[in-house]
Amino acid sequence: MSIEAQTRNPFKRLHCKLFGHKYTVLRSYQTNKKEYECSHCKKQFTENDYGELETLTPKLRRINEVMEKFYIFKNTRRQSA
Ligand SMILES: [Zn+2]
Repeated sequence: MSIEAQTRNPFKRLHCKLFGHKYTVLRSYQTNKKEYECSHCKKQFTENDYGELETLTPKLRRINEVMEKFYIFKNTRRQSA
């Protein structure tokens, strides 16, 4: 059985339903935002403005990236001023 087939095992998804997701940090931003991936079902999440986790969509990832660019831009301006 391949690794891919194992991760698609429905039991693992049931495990998430019963015990919750097992989050691992996928990416962390300088804005303190983080993206997570569940090591069981491979679903990806990010923190919203309330610090709660929600499903990571391409739109949310883009917001995270834009916010980080803005944050870095602000910091470089502050340092040179
Ligand atoms: Zn999960």
